[in-house]
Amino acid sequence: MPKELEKQCQKCKQVKPFSEFFHNRTKNDFHNGICKGCQKKVNRSNKSGQGQVKPA
Ligand SMILES: [Zn+2]
Repeated sequence: MPKELEKQCQKCKQVKPFSEFFHNRTKNDFHNGICKGCQKKVNRSNKSGQGQVKPA
């Protein structure tokens, strides 16, 4: 039985080590379903209201 030290990001579909996922106690495996890189993008896109500057 292989050790589950890696999981697939649900967003970018890449298999990454758990260290690349933020902890989330609400998840079955205690890690977010998406990797840190994707999480940052999600957090940024969620910030609507200020700094909405579209590049020309
Ligand atoms: Zn990802």
